[in-house]
Amino acid sequence: MEKEKAKKIFVRVAAGAAAILVGAALAILLALIFWLKENKIILENELAQTRIGFLSLAKSLNVKIGDLNTSLENTKRDLAIASAQRDHLGLQYNDAMEKYLQEKSRMDDLHSQIGQIQGSVQTLEKLKSIDPELLKKYSKVYFLNENYIPESLAAIDAKYVFKPEESYLFHSKAWPFLQVMMATAFADGIDAKIISAYRSFGEQMALKSSYKVVYGSGANQFSADQGYSEHQLGTTIDFTTAKIGASFSGFEKTAAYQWLKDNAHQYGFVLSYPENNRHYQYEPWHWRFVGRDLAQKLHREQKYFYDMDQREIDEFLISLFD
Ligand SMILES: [Zn+2]
Repeated sequence: MEKEKAKKIFVRVAAGAAAILVGAALAILLALIFWLKENKIILENELAQTRIGFLSLAKSLNVKIGDLNTSLENTKRDLAIASAQRDHLGLQYNDAMEKYLQEKSRMDDLHSQIGQIQGSVQTLEKLKSIDPELLKKYSKVYFLNENYIPESLAAIDAKYVFKPEESYLFHSKAWPFLQVMMATAFADGIDAKIISAYRSFGEQMALKSSYKVVYGSGANQFSADQGYSEHQLGTTIDFTTAKIGASFSGFEKTAAYQWLKDNAHQYGFVLSYPENNRHYQYEPWHWRFVGRDLAQKLHREQKYFYDMDQREIDEFLISLFD
């Protein structure tokens, strides 16, 4: 019985405790629900604030994007304008460069023409200073004027002449060439002496008369007009040797003649009347200064002065004393 009673008491106690626990649990649950509700309101508020902020930010970003687009369009337009201007300037530059090059070419042509004119003037002035008679061919139909006198004469060094006591004259512009030739011949051991150089018309006439006295009518062949004309120029020399002297006999067999044939052209001298020429008798002793250019050409081509055309000869006048 006691047991039954204890059991009933225990059940009542247990039921009381359980009711208390359930009550406590309900209270906790209610408190939790209330807390959650509070938090939900706070979160909703915060969410609303955030949304407002985001919308504002999006709006301002949209404005900025719009501004940037406008700016980009402006920049594109500016670039297009600048590009067009650059192309235009490029064309202008090309035009200007083309004009510059044309002008430069014209100036160059002009300079070249001026240079040519100056060169021609200098050539003409040089030609004017050279006596054209010095390269003329004299023949039985073309004489040197009897009044002709060389522009200036120089005395030939006595050591080169056949009679040192007499004075011998030579064209002063051709004298340096003769002087070097004589010095070289002497250095080569050649016995060559000048026996006749410049002769005036009067001296020539006297000489011709004396030949006539000695040789009679044969003097015309020995000392005709064309012969004395060359001596009257002042640029012609008769050579001999100490051994042969004034007779000239056998001069063509001497070492002096051979030396002259081999070397005289280098100093501007040529043989006027070679063997078997059509113009005059053979005079191996008679050498005329015609300038180095012409003398060397004649030597190279194995030609003689009197065989050349006068117009061709005249082209060498400019370089006569070079
Ligand atoms: Zn002569």
